[in-house]
Amino acid sequence: MSHPTRLLLEEMTWPEVEAALEDGYRTVVVAVGAVEQHGPHLPLLVDAARGDRLAVEVASRMEGTLVAPTIRVGCSEHHMHFPGTLSLRRSTLEALCLDYAVSLSRHGFTKICFIPSHGGNFGPLADMLDDLNRAVAPDSRVVAYTDLTGFLGVWREAVAELTDLSERVGGHADIAESSEIMVIRPDLVREERAEPGYTGDFSEAFLDRIFRDGFRSVTPNGILGDARGMSAEIGLRCLERSAEAMVRALTD
Ligand SMILES: [Zn+2]
Repeated sequence: MSHPTRLLLEEMTWPEVEAALEDGYRTVVVAVGAVEQHGPHLPLLVDAARGDRLAVEVASRMEGTLVAPTIRVGCSEHHMHFPGTLSLRRSTLEALCLDYAVSLSRHGFTKICFIPSHGGNFGPLADMLDDLNRAVAPDSRVVAYTDLTGFLGVWREAVAELTDLSERVGGHADIAESSEIMVIRPDLVREERAEPGYTGDFSEAFLDRIFRDGFRSVTPNGILGDARGMSAEIGLRCLERSAEAMVRALTD
């Protein structure tokens, strides 16, 4: 299998895509991000930018895999109390994912992998998988990484490998996510505004409350966890470990 010079579908020409497909590049990764509030210290594009990066990290660890353009806006209704957040209805996101999957399947991609880089997309992706699989060609398969609790565990372990600050991982604009943005878009991090957010326990009832009453009802600054202590070193480790966990799940 010869390597295409780049993995990003949208940077390739059609003859390059055709050649890659003939060479066995039949798998494609699509990140599903968000444009939503990420505390007082991070820009709205966090989950879209993390999706761009994570998709490349995942694809480069899998055989014959290209990267489709990130779906930049996701299901963020629970962040709408914060100015600037954009949100898709679940039906809109499903329609987008379905049209991505069917397009890719028609060109001969046989495995289409959706990876959420935003917590609010895990549930919708899990719920739409059957419909997506019914819509693609019979020899194509649509899969998704949908283990939100597992994903948070991966971040905690990655931060614990380097520091004793893993209790600051709360899953949103926390030490892990802020560190990842220090790697991907350091120019956009307002590090001096990093502060603690909600750091209480994460019961089932608490998670229900987030989705029912919105983020702002539990965390006035929009952070879950604590952003302090972020570093590029932690960010790189979190990106690596997240990619490894996703590859394991997607290739099982
Ligand atoms: Zn995020």
